[in-house]
Amino acid sequence: MSDTAPTPEWKQQLLDGYSTFRSSNFRRQKDLYEELGRHGQSPKVMLIACADSRVEPGDIFDTIPGEMFVVRNVANLVPPKDETAGYHGTSAALEFAVESLEVDAIIVMGHESCGGIKACLEGAPKPGGYIDKWISILDEPRVVIKAAHSPDAHQSEMEFEGIRESLKNLMSFDCVRTRVESGTLELMGAYFSVIRGVLFFGDGPDGNFREIPPN
Ligand SMILES: [Zn+2]
Repeated sequence: MSDTAPTPEWKQQLLDGYSTFRSSNFRRQKDLYEELGRHGQSPKVMLIACADSRVEPGDIFDTIPGEMFVVRNVANLVPPKDETAGYHGTSAALEFAVESLEVDAIIVMGHESCGGIKACLEGAPKPGGYIDKWISILDEPRVVIKAAHSPDAHQSEMEFEGIRESLKNLMSFDCVRTRVESGTLELMGAYFSVIRGVLFFGDGPDGNFREIPPN
């Protein structure tokens, strides 16, 4: 690329954002960044969220650097324990959070209008592709949800059920189950309504999600 080539819009937005970060957030939290860089992280919470660009964990929970260990993937899924060879990115992050960082809690956060869940219900854009295989984690719950609810409720019911399935799959990992059973690790579901900007927690014994009252 020559020096005179125009900067593409996406790149200019990144540069503008970085400039703002340097002059505001980084300047304000310079000591915190230095401390974290020198001495490492010790977040208390691991959050498993969707890769969807509309669901920004740092905004929703107003976190600072070092506060939350976040993994984002398609449809915020936790796969079941699988010891076969493979590139298990979410499982690797889980192992690190539980065994090395020793987080106090793991939160699985789903969201409204999830494209991954839509693909689960209607079929992935590319049959046999990576998304298709990934969302097959929800094959069994999908059958249950489709049988129990009318079509207009499938999307939202499946979004909630995907969170419950991931919480169940978390317990298939020995490192998670051992700490949950000893009372040193809590698991919780959460759900974010993009349209309303409202958060739900699924922390009751009935598996239902309740809206967190806004202040
Ligand atoms: Zn999503």
